[in-house]
Amino acid sequence: MQIPDCIFCKIALHEIPCEIAYEDDEVIAFKDNHPLAPVHLLVIPKNHLRNLNDVTSEHDILMCHLLSVIRRLASEFGIAESGYRVITNTGTDGGQIVGHLHFHLLGGQALGSKIG
Ligand code: AMP
Ligand code: ZN
Repeated sequence: MQIPDCIFCKIALHEIPCEIAYEDDEVIAFKDNHPLAPVHLLVIPKNHLRNLNDVTSEHDILMCHLLSVIRRLASEFGIAESGYRVITNTGTDGGQIVGHLHFHLLGGQALGSKIG
């Protein structure tokens, strides 16, 4: 289910434009509009979950599917072997700006090793 006033729910509903890299009934992936690396995609469930804190065992299949989409995109975007990073910012201290669960897929260059 999508909720009003959530930008990523609007993306899931195709109500705002973005560069879609992958889509099925459960998941949509699109290019980050402020990319931090040559490849910077966001992979999200279409149904609204705020972040990992909303994920329960009911979402086991969805979570596996999200990871499988991420692997597939890493391969399609040519970064599977060179390497990549997957990040999900959670809550205020985690630096989460958009309150809809999303996984950043970053690659295409050597990424720094610092945390935070
Ligand atoms: P964060 O919530 O900090 O994990 O990051 C949210 C990410 O969403 C940022 O990297 C933004 O650049 C990205 N973003 C926000 N709005 C859009 C949009 N309409 N299309 C693509 N990316 C977006
Ligand atoms: Zn949402």
